[in-house]
Amino acid sequence: MAEIQLRNLSKRWGSFVGVDSFDLTIADEEFLVLLGPSGCGKTTTMRMIAGLEDATEGDIMIGGQRVNDLDPKDRDVAMVFQSYGLYPHLNVYENIRFPLRVRKIDESTHDERVMRAARMVELEDFLHRKPAELSGGQRQRVALARAIVREPNVFLMDEPLSNLDAKLRVSTRAQIKNLSHELKVTTIYVTHDQIEAMTLADRVVVMKRGVVQQVGTPTEIYNRPANVFVAGFIGSPGMNLVEGHVSGGTFEADSVRVEGLEVRDGALTLGFRAEDARLAEPGEPAQIEAPLYTIELLGDATMLTVRAGGALMSVKASKDLRASIGDAVSFVVPPGACHLFDPATEARLD
Ligand code: ATP
Repeated sequence: MAEIQLRNLSKRWGSFVGVDSFDLTIADEEFLVLLGPSGCGKTTTMRMIAGLEDATEGDIMIGGQRVNDLDPKDRDVAMVFQSYGLYPHLNVYENIRFPLRVRKIDESTHDERVMRAARMVELEDFLHRKPAELSGGQRQRVALARAIVREPNVFLMDEPLSNLDAKLRVSTRAQIKNLSHELKVTTIYVTHDQIEAMTLADRVVVMKRGVVQQVGTPTEIYNRPANVFVAGFIGSPGMNLVEGHVSGGTFEADSVRVEGLEVRDGALTLGFRAEDARLAEPGEPAQIEAPLYTIELLGDATMLTVRAGGALMSVKASKDLRASIGDAVSFVVPPGACHLFDPATEARLD
């Protein structure tokens, strides 16, 4: 049983706050992803859980035990980093076996455990190679096998896919998801890649400048972002956001007019996703009218972007659409698809 509780966890260096009052219970066997831009405090949070960094304040509980004062090796966590941390002079077999030797685990069990871990990441045919004789993806799988072999209660993974090319990243991502499910290990996974977060996580924690912005399932975070930052960060592209004014339920900004909103009069940040809007039919009333700024072919769709209300706004259209930069385009944005934010606090209003 490895429920992890973080209570008011903070890290400060002098007056700089790296992580600010992080409070969360991570369920046994949960796959939790810490997501946010560079410098938001993801790695520091992870290093505090691993014991590689002292917490300035707060408690870290693993399986009901306070571990703040335990050495990393006594915390029953295994870490996988973006730099694989393999020993160059040891072959794959010995690299995977290394944690068992360090922990003085009964030698008679080593072979079986190493082979099982190697099989799980499909490395059986590479056991005698040195790390220098492996591809990046294979090295990353050795690092995974080395984490698995210990059968820890907790996996901590810090951007483990960032050194892999796009295709390998997708297949290794699937493998990690599968492994964590099969091994029933509580996993905390750090990434700045929101697609990775959305595909892997049971729950996502979105962070910005050391502060948790939202905790939720990928669907909750996508469908009901708590604030402007989360709305713009999640999604590919992020949510379209435009600042304007509402009067009598009608929102207006330059080239944008959306009627039928249920919100008080005053300043408002309006958001909508590229896939929730569409091109207007000829003669149909539209909410946005502007010249086309860019057109991008995505394969399964075409992304149209206009400049309106002082912002760039993208709308997904059919892959067969033919249009050119500068063409006048009109978008339909259903009021029900709009997200409403307070421009002063940036918090969600509805
Ligand atoms: P990245 O995605 O770039 O790895 P991150 O979200 O993991 O970023 P952290 O490495 O946790 O970010 O760093 C959080 C903040 O704390 C950053 O602004 C960083 O510069 C700062 N920081 C990290 N280590 C130290 C340190 N030893 N002394 C002072 N500031 C530090």
